[in-house]
Amino acid sequence: MSLAVLLVEDDRELRGTLRDALEVEGYRVRASASLADAQAVLAHARAAGGVDLVLLDLGLPDGDGEALLTALRRERGTPVIVLSARQGDEGKVRLLDAGADDYLVKPFNLAELLARMRVALRHRGTAVRPAVTRYAHGGLAIELDTRRVTRDGAEVHLTPTEFKLLARLVRQAGQVVTHRQLLADVWGPEHTEQTHYLRLYMAQLRAKLERDAADPALLLTEPGVGYRLAEPSD
Ligand code: CA
Repeated sequence: MSLAVLLVEDDRELRGTLRDALEVEGYRVRASASLADAQAVLAHARAAGGVDLVLLDLGLPDGDGEALLTALRRERGTPVIVLSARQGDEGKVRLLDAGADDYLVKPFNLAELLARMRVALRHRGTAVRPAVTRYAHGGLAIELDTRRVTRDGAEVHLTPTEFKLLARLVRQAGQVVTHRQLLADVWGPEHTEQTHYLRLYMAQLRAKLERDAADPALLLTEPGVGYRLAEPSD
């Protein structure tokens, strides 16, 4: 059975384009142009098994997406990808911290959207899915159980904090993790403003793990938002 996507976007042209493109990919698409309509669609869809993923534009005529996100998280952990208009949009960080799964800045390309959707669907139902314990990309292999990290077969030594930070990213590989989430999970909730910790430790990790630390292919920066570990490739 095909997956159901709720697309909440008030730009008529973009809504039409995305709907067509997603239907070609085999998704069943319900489109809404406002928050109120999206809430009505969700209420209606509930009886039919709900929706599998939500694409949520931030700037909507009747408000921003936060109310919808809260309802979705409470209900069943439906993945939400935020569609953000501007690079400097603070709203996307707020929604990511509140539990949205990922974001894209407009204009984005379709291939990128589809890739993000696949990752979000794979990570869906965080509470029940088997925990991610392995990661591989290029010559890098990470095993969280044994705390073993190798690059082209050679063991890489990480400090406990470096490992903890890397493990946090591995558990959400392919998805953005905000500065706040990383700081809270690795250093503790009292350290969520210490973004310089992240810069320091990320530089150390890149020096140890990347082929070219100046041009990272694994530990990717999402400017103003957080970091993303590249999707596993093998
Ligand atoms: Ca909009």
